[in-house]
Amino acid sequence: MYFCRLLSFTMKKIFLLLFILTFQNIAFSQNNVIEQVRTELSKRREAKILIPKSEIKDINLLSKTISLDYPKGEFWLGYVNEKQYKNFLTLNLKHSLFTESFPKALTMATNLSQMSSWDRYPTYLVYDSMMRRFATSYPNICKLDTIGFSEDNRLILALKISSNPYSDIDKPKFFYTSTMHGDEITGYVLMLRLADWLLNNYGINQRVTNIINNTQVYINPLANPDGTYFDSINLANATRYNANAVDLNRNFPSIPNGFHADGENWQKETLAFMAYADSNEFSISANLHGGAEVLNYPFDTYTSNSQSHADANWFVAVCQQFIDSISPLAPLTFFRDVTHSGYTNGGDWYVVDGSRQDYQTYFKYSREITFEVSSDKSLSTTQLNNYWNYLKGGLISYIETCQKGLQGYVRDSLTNEPIRAKIFINSHDAFNSEVYSKASTGYYYRPIQSGIYSITYSADRYYPKTIYNVNIASNSMNNQDVILAKIPDNLGEIEDNKFLINIYPNPAKDLLRVSLPENSNIFSYSIFNMLGIEIMKGRINDINTDISIKDLNKGVYLILLGEKTIKFIKE
Ligand SMILES: [Zn+2]
Repeated sequence: MYFCRLLSFTMKKIFLLLFILTFQNIAFSQNNVIEQVRTELSKRREAKILIPKSEIKDINLLSKTISLDYPKGEFWLGYVNEKQYKNFLTLNLKHSLFTESFPKALTMATNLSQMSSWDRYPTYLVYDSMMRRFATSYPNICKLDTIGFSEDNRLILALKISSNPYSDIDKPKFFYTSTMHGDEITGYVLMLRLADWLLNNYGINQRVTNIINNTQVYINPLANPDGTYFDSINLANATRYNANAVDLNRNFPSIPNGFHADGENWQKETLAFMAYADSNEFSISANLHGGAEVLNYPFDTYTSNSQSHADANWFVAVCQQFIDSISPLAPLTFFRDVTHSGYTNGGDWYVVDGSRQDYQTYFKYSREITFEVSSDKSLSTTQLNNYWNYLKGGLISYIETCQKGLQGYVRDSLTNEPIRAKIFINSHDAFNSEVYSKASTGYYYRPIQSGIYSITYSADRYYPKTIYNVNIASNSMNNQDVILAKIPDNLGEIEDNKFLINIYPNPAKDLLRVSLPENSNIFSYSIFNMLGIEIMKGRINDINTDISIKDLNKGVYLILLGEKTIKFIKE
């Protein structure tokens, strides 16, 4: 008996000792991991970590803390910068540093001719030459645009491909942009190749000719050059984040959480894209990523149960069309690694705040889908031709959606002047899904599933007009022009305080403070003189923003904030 008790006592001690040893081991190994992650951060300004799924209680809290990437087997892969890692450690989750077991060397093209077989990645200089050469080789249908500059002052370029590239014609605007996550580089080469293919086939291939005649196509192959060229010798070492270690696809204004939900300033890349969207008013766009094979449609910030898009059926139909256009030569597993259909509502996959897709879709009244084009983020160069062949049909069919829907002009009933009007589909539109006509010409384009709709056209100081039984046929462009009658001036001065926009002091001398409500969706302003000429414009950086009006002459001005115009006096 005593012996047994002694044994039992000894066993307990052994177990206790084992337990302490194991626990110390875990603690020791986690300390080790933290060291490893910190070393990686000092080398690359970002680190990839793996978190066991079993550890994660609240995936959306985790998604707010770090840049969640994708599930990998029993783990989630996430990216952290120093600040995110510090916050992540407070969650006390077991994790490990993720490193590629077989780092690859990607073949680079160091001159233009090496790109001709499309099985290499271009150096930054070769990329720059390719973009310039597109514009000089096809001056009648192609123009090179500078969207802006990266934090390290690399160019962010876009091609405009259109039958009239140097003017803004009344045709839908379509935008492809790729690789805002610098290490997701498959789309980068796909976009260069798409531009090349479109330009080479104008007047030869009927589909291409129709696209270029009927749509203003913009292509930005590389949205985050500093991340992609972190290591200019081998793109396999590219970083997801930009030069300031910021995730650009979390850096846009958030629908529920305001201007800077990620806790970072707007990066130069973000500001450049916001300004480009302001001046171009794209109708349909896609944002190419990698790491998975799936189409991800709005919203990223909400699950489909909590807030689906009014045009969810349009998004689903467009995604299905894309999937149906994938080459039959693609492997059966292609575009099946996230969902069986090949597409998903963003938030149903996992919730992301501050994405470009939601910014474009909600704040710019547009339609943007995130295309995850290859499970392998940095596709080996031998696969680049295959992926082009698999995806070419889908990429083209998505641009062709711009040839379907409703378009027309909104004009003044007396003067025929163009009107910036809101085009609202009754019993359908919600949560910023409506579209607006262009102030310069009154032209509008509204992608929508076929059906019979009642549509209300409204504008500041005009009587709204509803057109009933508008029949939008499938697979074609339908036209509906509208004239609106002006409300007599003495009735037009309706003060509208429901948006609680304030400017003060008024009259003002040097600074004019603009004060907006929480969750405002106004990110820019324009100041006009009383002749209606725009004198200055700029960004609204926060809900309280001071605008320097030192350089304005004394007089009366109008400031345009969103849809609201407010009169002020400069002393
Ligand atoms: Zn991405």
